[in-house]
Amino acid sequence: MDFGELGMVLGKDIIIERKTAVGGGDANDAYKVVLSNGEFAFLKENSVQNADFFRKEEHGLKALQNTGTIRIPCIYDRGVEDGHSYLLMEYIERGHASPGYWEKLGHALAAMHKAPLDPKYSGKYGFYEDNYIGAGEQSNVQMTGWVEFFRECRLRPQLMLASGYFDKDILSKSEFILNNLDKILIEPERPSLLHGDLWSGNVMQDSVGDPVLIDPAVYVGCNEADLAMTELFGGFDFRFYEAYYSEIGKMSGYERRRDIYNLYHLLNHLNLFGRGYLSSVIDIIIRYAK
Ligand code: ADP
Repeated sequence: MDFGELGMVLGKDIIIERKTAVGGGDANDAYKVVLSNGEFAFLKENSVQNADFFRKEEHGLKALQNTGTIRIPCIYDRGVEDGHSYLLMEYIERGHASPGYWEKLGHALAAMHKAPLDPKYSGKYGFYEDNYIGAGEQSNVQMTGWVEFFRECRLRPQLMLASGYFDKDILSKSEFILNNLDKILIEPERPSLLHGDLWSGNVMQDSVGDPVLIDPAVYVGCNEADLAMTELFGGFDFRFYEAYYSEIGKMSGYERRRDIYNLYHLLNHLNLFGRGYLSSVIDIIIRYAK
């Protein structure tokens, strides 16, 4: 039977009865589904070759959920069926932001960044396994230094992938940035579990108007990397920042570091989606190579 039409068995006798496509995702096909017990669920599908993608997404969502600080969709099932890999999770009914929504999100994200780290990934930057940033591969080799981690696991791999877009001058400026990253970034006061892909499209408002995080690229890093991404494509209200910074003070010089953190995401977009991101990438490289 063709997967998803009728009959994928979930646990004992719960099956998917109907599915309706949901737009908005970058990397996967997504559906709102009705289960035979009458409940809704959210289904993501990809090819079997990409089954690893959903294993990593599940691990990331669970790591965030284990902090107990912010709502994360519960995972119901994951597997391979009829030529697809899939991830089935709790369906988040969209609502309108509740009063105090932005403050809640700010406090919750700060609590997540302050949460004790699981022994599996405490004490080091990175994560216990590599994962994905959108459809791009993300290396998480655990390292004791944040700056070294950001250079070797974030900027260097993306710069290498993007090298075909650059002339000699930009290549040498990129090398300069890598070699001088310890003068641009600082070691954080504490390592934090990060969402890793925190743009506004990955924060939902549930039916009571509370924030929910989806689609992470989790790793342990400096909290500034998550905050920088909230500023990259916009969409976060000033009340979010006020609440966040009332819990975790802003480290001096954050604004000077912000765009180097976002260079990582822009490079990833350049590598995934093409030249549309090239000028933003080059602007940042030129700025930091002085
Ligand atoms: P992709 O991995 O392809 O980027 P996303 O996880 O971002 O897919 O999901 C695509 C869209 O589906 C999101 O923008 C959001 O609107 C919606 N969505 C994601 N997770 C859920 C969920 N658990 N419940 C309801 N809608 C969801």
